[in-house]
Amino acid sequence: MKRYKGCINPECDAFKEQTKYKEENLYCPNCGCKLEYVCKDCHKALEDDSDAFCKHCLAKRHDRFQKVKDIGVAVGTTLLAVAGTAAAMLSASDTEDTPKGEK
Ligand SMILES: [Zn+2]
Ligand SMILES: [Zn+2]
Repeated sequence: MKRYKGCINPECDAFKEQTKYKEENLYCPNCGCKLEYVCKDCHKALEDDSDAFCKHCLAKRHDRFQKVKDIGVAVGTTLLAVAGTAAAMLSASDTEDTPKGEK
């Protein structure tokens, strides 16, 4: 997973604007402070460099992922139902000789 560095100097605009820097950048071009790996979501310095998100945001994302999966299943079922209805309507209009409403 791609990680980002950020300035963690509270006085710095790069911190306030949560500017993300590439891993190869060592120092903040704005204030000269050493850049730290920061959470992609909340821009907090990471205690553990092995992930792109802090533990808090990881947990949050996991929750969201779980929800998205649930919604995906629900949407899939709805789509199937809608497709079934549409197919039924199509075949009905094929067999019935529907008047076109002329005159
Ligand atoms: Zn800075
Ligand atoms: Zn975070």
